[in-house]
Amino acid sequence: MKSTNILKYAKRKGSSPRSSALLEHPIRENCEEIDGNRGFHLKNENLTFPGVTRRIKEVFYPGFKHIDKNKKRPRKGTCSSISIGNRVHSELFHITNCKDKCLCKEPPKKRLHRFTKKAIDKFKEMEITIEESEVMIVSRGMRLGTRLDLVGTMFKGQENESMVVVSIKTGIPGTYRNPQKMNAPLDFLGSEPRNHNQLQGMIEHIILDRDYGIDVQEYLIMYLGKDGVIVESLESWCRSKTNRDNVFSAVSRAKH
Ligand SMILES: [Zn+2]
Repeated sequence: MKSTNILKYAKRKGSSPRSSALLEHPIRENCEEIDGNRGFHLKNENLTFPGVTRRIKEVFYPGFKHIDKNKKRPRKGTCSSISIGNRVHSELFHITNCKDKCLCKEPPKKRLHRFTKKAIDKFKEMEITIEESEVMIVSRGMRLGTRLDLVGTMFKGQENESMVVVSIKTGIPGTYRNPQKMNAPLDFLGSEPRNHNQLQGMIEHIILDRDYGIDVQEYLIMYLGKDGVIVESLESWCRSKTNRDNVFSAVSRAKH
């Protein structure tokens, strides 16, 4: 693997930071997950951050209802796409993060799922070196945290390489015939899976920009399907500064 420690921290804006800008960022040492998937904790500042998914739904999905945590939750899906997703994510975690010793709660089976193989083939084809999986990031401003699926470096010819963040989705997202609109300021978008995934990427971008000083140039959403792999970049609405500022404000206002 190429040395990535030349650039310690990313310059703000306009640079193409390597993954070390994030992977060696000082915030990382202080960030830990709260047991039982209950969010994230910044030790040195004693701040806690809930996960991003629920907040996105509350703010942007039309008609989202609060679910009382004390009430009985609806039965957890036995839907195969969820368990395939979990399996693929844990296999990618094991391959990426368990170099000297296994850090998995439950080490994956020897035989990799075909989606995991497809993802690895795609990384080779695109000259992407994955360096770390499940990278925790937190936003003080929006008061939330999340994990980036995969962080790595994309080689684009000599002396031209860039940090890449890859979000992995199992299954190809469907579209709705007449989707409801998302809530303002994203009411120009239909509330459907593809846009939800783009929005998730946009929020991760905003966090990396504001809290880590990293302007990610390459953000890919990789859909692993039975019939093939679709790789998408973030759309222009996610990259617009106005939209980003508006989304940041909407999420910040909703924090509690
Ligand atoms: Zn492992």
